[in-house]
Amino acid sequence: MNNGSKEILKKPVQYLKGVGESRARLFQRLGLFTVEDVITHFPREYEDRGNLKSIIELWDGETCAFEGIVASQITETRLRKGLTIYKLLIRDHTGMITATWFNQHYIKNVFTVGEGYVFYGKISKKYRSIEVQSPVYELVKDGGMKNTCRIIPVYPATTNLTQNVIRSVISNALEQVDGKLEDILPQNLRNTYKLCEINYAVQNIHFPGTEEDFKNARYRLAFEELLLLQLGLLSIKNALGESKKGIQFKPHAEINEFVDKLPFKLTNAQKKVFEEIQKDMESDKVMNRLVQGDVGSGKTIVAVLALFKAIRNGYQGTLMVPTEILAEQHYKSIVPLLEPYGIQVALLTGSQTKKQKAEILEGIKSGRVDIVIGTHALIEENVEFDKLGLVVTDEQHRFGVRQRAALSKKGDNPDVIVMTATPIPRTLALILYGDLDISIIDELPPGRKPIETYAADNSMRERINNFIRKKVQEGRQVYIVCPLVEDSETVEAKSAMETAERIANHDFRDLKVGLIHGKMKHKEKEAVMKGFVEQDINILVSTTVIEVGVNVPNATVMLIENAERFGLAQLHQLRGRVGRGQHQSYCILYNESKSDISKERMQVMQKTNDGFIISEKDLELRGPGEFFGTRQHGIPELKIANLYKDIEILKTAQQAAADILKEDRLLKKEENRRLREVIQEKFKEKMNALSLN
Ligand code: ADP
Ligand code: MG
Repeated sequence: MNNGSKEILKKPVQYLKGVGESRARLFQRLGLFTVEDVITHFPREYEDRGNLKSIIELWDGETCAFEGIVASQITETRLRKGLTIYKLLIRDHTGMITATWFNQHYIKNVFTVGEGYVFYGKISKKYRSIEVQSPVYELVKDGGMKNTCRIIPVYPATTNLTQNVIRSVISNALEQVDGKLEDILPQNLRNTYKLCEINYAVQNIHFPGTEEDFKNARYRLAFEELLLLQLGLLSIKNALGESKKGIQFKPHAEINEFVDKLPFKLTNAQKKVFEEIQKDMESDKVMNRLVQGDVGSGKTIVAVLALFKAIRNGYQGTLMVPTEILAEQHYKSIVPLLEPYGIQVALLTGSQTKKQKAEILEGIKSGRVDIVIGTHALIEENVEFDKLGLVVTDEQHRFGVRQRAALSKKGDNPDVIVMTATPIPRTLALILYGDLDISIIDELPPGRKPIETYAADNSMRERINNFIRKKVQEGRQVYIVCPLVEDSETVEAKSAMETAERIANHDFRDLKVGLIHGKMKHKEKEAVMKGFVEQDINILVSTTVIEVGVNVPNATVMLIENAERFGLAQLHQLRGRVGRGQHQSYCILYNESKSDISKERMQVMQKTNDGFIISEKDLELRGPGEFFGTRQHGIPELKIANLYKDIEILKTAQQAAADILKEDRLLKKEENRRLREVIQEKFKEKMNALSLN
């Protein structure tokens, strides 16, 4: 924006007419500190007060605007103490309507008989009478028409700050900046994508003249937001690839031997993804690759192959996972694969003794340990590598950008692989992981039987208990997952204990029931998992601690209590704990909620086993913010665009971003200068985390 407008934009809200010190504080409560904040405080919805109806056209239950002449003096009736009703008769050439207000005593002296007003409010029609309740109104001859006769914005508000005040302050701010906003989108881009100009867009997102104006304004602003997001992420990706020379790993023939000796044949999808990884590893650029694949698609082995390659090139590697159980399980499955090749694998977690840790830390530092598998403990300061060449993070949605970066810093520009637990649609992956290259394992190992999923309610308990008993008699094992209790591991643990108690003493007195939850000591958890793996336990009652990664192929029934409390992605993850062996597996979802969303979730789960479809549905039902924890990904907050609803705009913006960078990789052209500046501002945090400044 030019200097004049820049100055205004940075002025505090008090600069605006109608905003004194105390109102400024209210605006601050909404996160609005400057004039710029005010004009980008976008409406959350709109009321259409523009479409004036005649009285005869009004429908019961609708909220709308009409014009009429005041036909009588206002009447005042005291219904009882403290309740006064005011009534006003209004007419037009088609009929009469009564406006009513309760206890709004000032209304007595507002209207003049014979004058024309515009009213806006909720209509109710009963028997012969038609009423409008507490309408807002404006004198026609005033010609102001600020609050009626057009599409009216409704803003996110706060106590003591009414819509009218917000509207008038925003309207004021818009007057101050009108015509002065400088467009950050270059003219040719606006032409290509038919985007309206910024001053028009900002005016019309707040106070649209017509529906068409609103659509144009919103399209442009959402496009801009998504374009900036994508440009920022792609720029970061470029910078990451360029600023740093990575390790150039060499091909190694022994990998083929390793693959041949695996207990199974790699799927074509696994081969393809490993090829993509190898290519990255052998180039001198730093690899930043996301491996997406559904639950059970075999991501781990692909990571192991990459680690093998790194080790054979004389480097160390590390695998970071979100839970200790998972770390241990990976450790146990990976050691036997690599031991025959003389590769030293170590485990590092928070609950090891000081002595154990010291020994492992020494091994990592001296280079005696080749691969270390662990939890967050890996990013602690005391962890030093001799020569770290490859960093893998598994089930990455649990880790933030910062944590990933912190681990990478322990090496000299090591290559990075990120594996997701929850696959997401590609367009979105491009946003959320826009700084990474993406590989997809889109095939499951052969012979997997789809898990049969059933939604159930309490009336079916007896039957389901019998089913479980039958499965246990056949030699299978069962998970029972207790309700999710947001933000309280303690309450969650308690509920798991109660469930385990009930089951052990009543429902399945004859079976061996185990319990595992997040509040248990690590040693206890370990003992329980061992018991389950060794089939000393038939039924494992658990909180969501088993959500990620646990692998017990003999377990074939997953029963989830209060399934309505879980999101779809989480249900899919939980279900992925079964269906890992040769036996048919089942997932039972107890659902006591009658809500539509909940029913729809259960239906989706029954219908499909495909994680990509499920995540798309999850996104639709929940909205992207909640689903992804966008903040955790270091992505700037979206003020107007919606990653789900605006998927078409997103695709177009992605194309536009790619085109812009193809022409002007570093955004050095004058026409792109403003884009560059805004991106640097928006992505400051993420760039800092990645040390790109
Ligand atoms: P995820 O992608 O969910 O992390 P895992 O890597 O844990 O999946 O693999 C799931 C199971 O499939 C493991 O027991 C693994 O040994 C097995 N597996 C992996 N790849 C194959 C394959 N190509 N053929 C058969 N089994 C495989
Ligand atoms: Mg896994």
